[in-house]
Amino acid sequence: MEKIIFDLDNTLMMFNDRYIYDYSSIINGTYEDGMKLYKSIGKYEDSTGIYNKKELLRFINEDMNLNYTMELFDKLLDAISNNWIYYVPDGTKEVLNYLYCKYELYVLTNWFSDCQANRLKHVELLKYFREIVGADKFKPKPNVDGYLYITGDTNKEDVIMIGDNVDIDIKGANDAGINSILIDYKNRYPDYEKRITDIKELKKIL
Ligand SMILES: [Mg+2]
Repeated sequence: MEKIIFDLDNTLMMFNDRYIYDYSSIINGTYEDGMKLYKSIGKYEDSTGIYNKKELLRFINEDMNLNYTMELFDKLLDAISNNWIYYVPDGTKEVLNYLYCKYELYVLTNWFSDCQANRLKHVELLKYFREIVGADKFKPKPNVDGYLYITGDTNKEDVIMIGDNVDIDIKGANDAGINSILIDYKNRYPDYEKRITDIKELKKIL
């Protein structure tokens, strides 16, 4: 193994309901309004090519029949960059520190690269990664472009993807012809063969 590609959300940092309140307060809305916005952004992820701030704003406004400004949208991105930094699974830093000494580590994420880098910086994890490859650089996972970019000249057998989403992280890895490990914190795929339920297990197998 030479390169390890990590997903970010729900792999290195867990999603929490609290984030929805950030959305709600920025748009001066209820929790439900915040949730709608969150879901609309999710729809953009499913529908799109390479991420673009203007396009995403246009998509949200059309999808939700709203008229948000870029100023408001920048506030949102800023809140995600700086507030969405909680809940790093226990042992993550130790694991990354161990892996970092043996392999090249990358993050492949379906969000804006700078925003994700900022979040990792806040929790002192950014230094372990060679590059944060976001959906503003390549089409979002499961598209193979980001995987192939990170793989570069390395043999595909020497690259492995680690992520929590079967349909996104693992499908993309399969399509790109690289190995993968599902990180199944919630034990949703007990029959899945290449699976761990705790990030600390990586220290034993890699
Ligand atoms: Mg994820």
